[in-house]
Formats: sequence, structure tokens, C-alpha cells
Amino acid sequence: MVDLQTQYQHIKQEIDAGIQEVIDSAAFIKGKKVTDFQAHLEQYTGAKHVIPVGNGTDALQIALMGLGLKAGDEVITPTFTFIATAEVVALLGLTPVVVDVDWETMNMDLESVRRAITPRTKAIVPVHLFGQCADMEPLMQLAQEHHLYVVEDACQAIGARYTFSNGETKQAGTIGHIGCTSFFPSKNLGCYGDGGAIFTNDDELAARMRAIANHGMVVRYHHEMIGVNSRLDSIQAAVLDAKLPHLDEYIAARQRAAACYDKAFAGNSKLLIPGRQNNSTHVFHQYTLRVAGADRDQLREQLAERGIPAMIYYPVPLHQQKAYLDPRYKDGDFPVAEKLASCVLSLPMHTELDEEQLNYISSAVLELIK
Ligand SMILES: *Cc1c(COP(=O)(O)O)cnc(C)c1O
Repeated sequence: MVDLQTQYQHIKQEIDAGIQEVIDSAAFIKGKKVTDFQAHLEQYTGAKHVIPVGNGTDALQIALMGLGLKAGDEVITPTFTFIATAEVVALLGLTPVVVDVDWETMNMDLESVRRAITPRTKAIVPVHLFGQCADMEPLMQLAQEHHLYVVEDACQAIGARYTFSNGETKQAGTIGHIGCTSFFPSKNLGCYGDGGAIFTNDDELAARMRAIANHGMVVRYHHEMIGVNSRLDSIQAAVLDAKLPHLDEYIAARQRAAACYDKAFAGNSKLLIPGRQNNSTHVFHQYTLRVAGADRDQLREQLAERGIPAMIYYPVPLHQQKAYLDPRYKDGDFPVAEKLASCVLSLPMHTELDEEQLNYISSAVLELIK
């Protein structure tokens, strides 16, 4: 699905030098590499504050802690996504309220969000799934009308750009009150271990979240709030700082691969190519087909026999996950998410795919569904 070895070979010198610098300095925690990377990521994203943390899940948790939400407060999030969002909501004693997604973009459906708002709703967590932004302009308007916070889960969408109706463009993660991203190795900007970051333009929220990520500490050994221990280590920051200047090339390589797949599959009645959100770019963390007129699981097995990996992101929506079963929800309540779970198939997608590989993969898919 990804080829991190080949990617590393192209940037080996920069990566090795950065890691060596950290080892020589022995500043493994909160070292200069971390503050350098933070500043470079602020520049790249346009976020006023970047707070590096231990991983994307921690980023989401610290964001919700920073907002000071209380037990019983409701947080709206899509049911078709990775578990992290609902997980941190539940861990904090907040109530996850799940909503359906759009069949084309697979992102949170705005009408479903509108219907899910109650007097207890405090925040909305849109997920920019597979690399394109949820429709943020109407979502921000809706949130403003109801005085709700918006925390973007931009773990799959770093570098995606959303254009507002006035022509203004902002990056994924810098539109809501807070944005969260992950540097898990296979993410579009991935380190060589765990890492994550929080974005915000709000000074007060930034200060609070920075303290929460560091044991709730502002002055050393004086704890003003309950916090956690979540930090990006210097070696991961060195890897990320070496990769960040390449992020736009990496995005372009993913977009070229996606265009190749699109061309091969366009107009096929048994496969639907990923629908696009018209005011967002797509950075293709995943290239996800909807297999409409063929047996998805059989196709996946037959691809595997030919040495082609394909993955199902995600096979079970949140409301059908054993740990999250809730009497408020039953099967059939979120028909689009349930249908997607039964038909999505993600093809190999990374920065190192060449034309030969792309042709091999798409020809195999087309042959197998004939
Ligand atoms: C990867 C991911 C996360 C979690 O990131 P980690 O760094 O693995 O904790 C959260 N949400 C989404 C949508 C993700 O893809």
C-alpha cells in the first residue's frame, strides 16, 4: 500500500543528517529540532500556532480537553471513519453523536449534522477523509449559528486546500477553532514512529493546549490543570523537518497516481471513482473506489493473488462497532455509511508509484471485474 523504503532512498542524506544532529546534541526531548519543525509547519500551513504532540489521537484528545468540555456534552462526528475521534470523545466522558456521510465525497453530510444538533451539543469534529476537506464553509456557518466549536480531524489531509466563496483559501486543519493531524509513518507527512500536531489561530487555546500536552504545567512543577504527557520527540521532528520541504512534491505525486487510476476506471459501470468536493483539493491519502457491480471481497482476494494489496477503510461504521454500540442507534440508521463499509476498496497509493505499477494495478482490477 505504501513504499517508504524507496521514498527514504531519495532523501536519505537529509534524513540521516537530521537524525545524527539530534544524537550528537542529545536533546532528545523538546530539542531545537522540535521548535524548528514547529516554526516550519506554521509557515507551511499558515496556522498561527502549531503544537507538536505524540500522535494524532492525542492531538484530538488534547483539543477536546483544551475546549473545557464537560461530561455529557455532545460531540458530533461522522460514523464512517477511523475510530480515534469517537474514542477520545468517549474516553473524556463526552457523548459521541454520530452522523451519516455523503456518498460521493464520503465526508460528513451537512444535513445530518444539522439534524443531530441538540441543546447539549458543544462541538463538531469533521474528518477530512482520505485527503479532501469536508465542506467547511457551510459547516462553519452552522457551527457559528449554534455557538459550537469545530475541531478538524486533518490526520489524512495535511496540505489539502479549501477555497471559500470569497476566494480565500485555507489549509485543512486551519479552518476550524482547532485542527489535528497525525505523522504516523504512512500518512502524507509521516515520521519514522509516532507523531502528531495541533493547529490553532487562538492564542488562549494554544497556551492551554500546550500546557495540557505537558502535564498541565505552565511554570515547572506547578500544575494548573489536569494534563497528559504527549510530545513529539526530536528524532521524529528531524525526520519531519527533512520531509516537509518535499510535501508538495509528495502531494503532486499522489495526485498524478490518482489521475492515472481515474483515467483507467472512468465510466466503468462496476466501479465508482472517488467523488470530489468541488471547493477542496484532494491530497489522496487514500484512493478509494466504491465497488458497485462486483464482489468487493472477492476482488480484493484476487488482487492479493496477483501481488496487489488493497485495503478496506473502513469495514465497520462506528455505530456498529462492538465497543460503541448505543441504544440510540440501530442498523440501517446511517445507510450511506453502511453501504460504503460494504463496498469501499482502497488501492495502493503513495509517492513512489510509477506508470508501470499503476498500469499493472488498474489492468488487473479491470480484468477481474469483467
Ligand atoms: C491516523 C488517524 C488518526 C490517528 O492518528 P494516530 O497518529 O495514529 O494516533 C485519527 N484520525 C484519522 C482520520 C486518522 O486517519
